[in-house]
Amino acid sequence: MIMTEFQQRRAAFFSKMQNNSLAIFPAGQEQIRSKDTEYPFRQNSDFYYLTGFNEQDAYLLIINKSGEQQSILFNRKKDKNAEIWHGLRTGQDAAVSKLGFDSAYDVLEFEEQLPGLIAELPVLYYPVFNAPELERSLSSVINLMRADRSKGQVAPAQFIDSLPIVHEMRLIKSESEIELMSDAAEISAAGHIRAMQLCHSGMWEYQLEAEIRYEFAQQGAPNVAYNSIVAGGQNACILHYTDNNRQLRDGDLVLIDAGAEYKGYAGDITRTFPINGVFSEHQAKLYQLVLDIQVSAINQINPGVALADINKNVVKKLVDGLLELGILEGDSEQLIKDQAYKAFYMHGIGHYLGLDVHDVGLYGTAENPRLLEAGMVITIEPGLYISEDADVDDVWKGIGIRIEDDVLVTQSGAEVLSADVPKSINEIEALMANVSVYG
Ligand code: MG
Ligand code: MG
Repeated sequence: MIMTEFQQRRAAFFSKMQNNSLAIFPAGQEQIRSKDTEYPFRQNSDFYYLTGFNEQDAYLLIINKSGEQQSILFNRKKDKNAEIWHGLRTGQDAAVSKLGFDSAYDVLEFEEQLPGLIAELPVLYYPVFNAPELERSLSSVINLMRADRSKGQVAPAQFIDSLPIVHEMRLIKSESEIELMSDAAEISAAGHIRAMQLCHSGMWEYQLEAEIRYEFAQQGAPNVAYNSIVAGGQNACILHYTDNNRQLRDGDLVLIDAGAEYKGYAGDITRTFPINGVFSEHQAKLYQLVLDIQVSAINQINPGVALADINKNVVKKLVDGLLELGILEGDSEQLIKDQAYKAFYMHGIGHYLGLDVHDVGLYGTAENPRLLEAGMVITIEPGLYISEDADVDDVWKGIGIRIEDDVLVTQSGAEVLSADVPKSINEIEALMANVSVYG
């Protein structure tokens, strides 16, 4: 039998389990938005990674019994009435025949069946402190087993966090994941291009946001990977600005941080461009500084390099640039030591990207940072934010710039997945003037 990639992942997780153990992964749950309306459902990423199953109210169990693997799904039963109201359910038969589980049961039987499944297995893996509903179930089932020894069932005595194992797996992307992430990045890029083409002063930030989401949906991505930031002028200095409710002004820049979610995978792109299509002299100076830093950071990506070390070079270049522009004054080394740049660049250089926008996996410590490996996807997103109340010359005030790309670490360096969307001053101005620089 040919295994699907989801089955292969379950087998890979199984291979990391102790003999005679059981792992439980809960699905996501619908979240109430207000009264009887819900937020759009989004599957739990770990659960999705191991199952490819997109319904709520479900549990995946992976069992290692004397070295034999068994994958069991607890999911909702087929129910004609519920399906008329709320949508189709996969049910148990299709979970086995189409999704490749060894067996599947009604999720309502989960607590009832658990003691029988768990009884001979002394080790239990689950997302410790990360799944309150599951922990409540486990607590009641396991305490009952402990109390009622007459049934001869011995409760598991060792509890291991399953997440570090599955998160290490998720950190290195497979070929098919890289393809999906390229698609997510391309669709995200198309949204940014549309925003550049349609932007004009007087427009409201949410209208520009709507154009981006329109393009995402047209290209097959109805959802965003995170709430879009569309920040005109000074709003760009608020790092997680998502109000998006101000009017765009002639002469300001707009910072857009938006990414499509495509088949579960996140795009995460930021571009900053002039609302009227032409950078002012001072905007261009700051923009070019950030762009040079971003390109140089991408060029440093290689297996064996630490993101933290790339950021050290970013900080050095930024401080030198700000000294040259007269925005900082003093000695470069001392300013870095004093973290004077933090007034203008207060976040990190980037993060892992995958099923989650801030994807899983360990970064290491300051003394011992993790090294990049081929198959990781990361963002590179230096920024420069000079707010209205900064202690600098007025000409620089109210300018926030970030440039962010999605980058695959390869054996020999890096591949920019989001390269479709222009970032040089010439390319941006040409696109906004409707003059193609691509011939
Ligand atoms: Mg971003
Ligand atoms: Mg990011």
